[in-house]
Order: sequence, then structure tokens, then C-alpha cells
Amino acid sequence: MSITEEYIACGEKNLLHTYNRSPIVFERGDGVYLYDADNKKYLDFAAGIAVFALGYNNKEYNDALKGQIDKLIHTSNLYYNIPAIDAAKELNSITGMDRVFFTNSGTEAIEGAIKSALKYAYTEEPADDYEIIAMEHSFHGRSMGALSVTGNAHYREAFGTGIGHIKFAKFNDFESVKALVSEKTCGIIMETVQGEGGIYPADEDFLKKVRKLCDEKDILLILDEIQCGMGRSGYMFAYEKYGIRPDIMTSAKALGCGVPVGAFSMTERVAEKSLVPGDHGSTYGGNPLAGAAVVEVLRQFKEKDIVGHVKELTPYLEEKLKELASKHECIKETRGVGFMRAVELDRPAGDIIKGAQEKGLIVISAGANILRLVPPLVIEKEHIDEMIDILDSLL
Ligand SMILES: *Cc1c(COP(=O)(O)O)cnc(C)c1O
Repeated sequence: MSITEEYIACGEKNLLHTYNRSPIVFERGDGVYLYDADNKKYLDFAAGIAVFALGYNNKEYNDALKGQIDKLIHTSNLYYNIPAIDAAKELNSITGMDRVFFTNSGTEAIEGAIKSALKYAYTEEPADDYEIIAMEHSFHGRSMGALSVTGNAHYREAFGTGIGHIKFAKFNDFESVKALVSEKTCGIIMETVQGEGGIYPADEDFLKKVRKLCDEKDILLILDEIQCGMGRSGYMFAYEKYGIRPDIMTSAKALGCGVPVGAFSMTERVAEKSLVPGDHGSTYGGNPLAGAAVVEVLRQFKEKDIVGHVKELTPYLEEKLKELASKHECIKETRGVGFMRAVELDRPAGDIIKGAQEKGLIVISAGANILRLVPPLVIEKEHIDEMIDILDSLL
């Protein structure tokens, strides 16, 4: 057995089988390339599912973490810590939100966002039957609350009724949202760009109308920016393009670039009537190590103008994908925003993903027929060319 085969056999014996993993054992990364245990090189167009935005083996990021490890890793939220305070100040200045709570994952950020909306409504008028409107084909995470607002029956099937009082509207269909609004509606939650559901951006008209409806009815608009946020759309947060602002937003994935950290943020107007001491907490959430990761990530975003880079290269990526689509009939459509792209095929994407791995390219799917491209945000033209060449040869 090769080293890789030995590791896979041991993993399959000991890990709970909740993933159908590709037979690759990654050992190290450098820039936009990954290397497996047998030292095979792969161009990475997945970034650990839209996480590692700044590229692997990023010296300044590694040094920032190492420095924090030597100082202090964890203290609990019974006390203040400097990196979390710095991270909160910087993140608020970027999101335009006023207050943030750091979590350990995206799904926990969604939990916090849901609780924040429920508490806001409860403060205004105590009741236990407030409703939230979520979108069909959405994905918000795997914990029970996040699962309850995830509009995909397949993910929810075996796990009961969830938290209740959730209604599902059609994404990008304003009338279907409006039809579900009642006196009990306290929040409307959606991804600004649906990720797992197949890379579908919210239409401008739709999102603006939902924002207006929320204003009129004192409903909180919750935007999930966990995948599409942090520069991926060509804007720091995807909602900026629409000229609107959510009342509550969630972030994670690229926020810590590999250190597990998420966040839910809100405006002061929401915070004033929402969670208070005793309502919410987390042992790890926003610990010094996670805080240091966020501070360093945001610092590099600014210093390297990552958003500007995504904006600059987006037309090139778009053009190359269009060219590819015009050459291959099996491509039904390409769509997306910034460095968050879908290549929709007329057949299951699994064989292409496997073939790409053999040729040293990592891509993932978003639904059975859709190739999803969510590369590190530091890719250059040459990496786009390399990706296109490999997909071209496979299609
Ligand atoms: C990944 C994702 C989540 C869940 O985040 P985890 O860190 O996996 O818990 C929630 N919402 C969206 C849009 C995501 O892409």
C-alpha cells in the first residue's frame, strides 16, 4: 500500500463515515497549490470550500498565529482579550454593522442570527410563535437551527421538524416572499449569493424589494455572507453591490482563513432590543487565537487590496469560462459573481471532478451537475489558464 492508501484505510476505520471523500490525503500547501502525502501537486480551485482566500503557507499569516500561540491561545469570554477587540473594531468598520459576536463556525453564526431576530421580536412583544422566512434551495449549516432554515429537504429529512415557525419562499421571487409575510414574521434570511444551492446571486430588484418590505413591516433582514462574503464576489461583502445593508449578517469561511471562526453582526438598532447577558455565549468563540487570525486576515485584505484584485481579474475568468462553454456542448451555462463561479453541465459533475484530480486540479460541485469554482482570492491569470486547460481537456 502507498502512504496515501494506508492513511485512507486508517481514516475509514476510525472516522465516522459522514463524507464520501476523494481519495486524496493533503499534507501541505503553498500559494494556490496543494501537495498530497505522495508529493503530487494540485492547483486548488476550491480553497477548502471558499476558506483559504489568501493562499497557503502565507508567511505573515503563519507568523501572526505563531506569535499569538506563544502569547495566549484561550482565556474564555469571562474576560476581555485584545485580538478579539481589535478584530471586532475592524470587522464592524468593514461590514458597516455596529456589534459583532464571534462564533466557531458558520452554522453557529446562523444560530446566533436566528436567536438575535427572535429576541428582537420578543423584546418588542413577548411571544413564542415568531416566524422566519427562508429561501428554497438555500444552505445555512448543519446544526438544528441552521438546518431548519436550510431549504433543501434532503438535508433535513431524518432530523424531525426543526425549530418550527419557518416558512420557505422562492428565491428571487418577491411575490412568494410577500405572500408568506404575516404579523408574526420577525426575520427574512437568505444568502446574498446562494452557494451550495448552485451559485445563484440574488437579483437586484428582488433584494431591494425585500429590504423595503422589511423596513415597512419592522422585519429583520438577515444576509448570510458566509460563502459569498470576504471579497469573493468582488465586493468585501456581496450586499454592497446592491446598495443595501442587512440588519443582521453572518460571516465565516474566509474570515479566519483556516482558523475556525465565524461571526454574526448587527446594527445598533437591533442590538438594543436583542441578546443580553445570559442569552447567548460560547466557550471558544472569539478566543485570542481566532481573534488574531481575523485581525491578520483583514489586515492583508487591506494591504494587498484583495477585493480590487478579484474585481480586476473577474472579467478574465468570466471570458475564459464563456470561451470554454462555447467550445463544449456539455456545458449548459456558466454563471456567478467574482471568484464564485458555476459551470453547469448536462451530466453529473462527478467524473469531471475525479478526472481533474488525476490531472492535478481541485474543483468541487454544488449540486449534482454543477462544477463550483471558489479558488483562493490570490490566483493570477496563469492559474486561470491552467484550470481552463485541464477542464478543456476533460470536457
Ligand atoms: C458553509 C456555509 C455555512 C455553514 O458554515 P460551517 O462553517 O460549515 O458551519 C452556512 N451558510 C453558508 C452560505 C455556507 O456556505
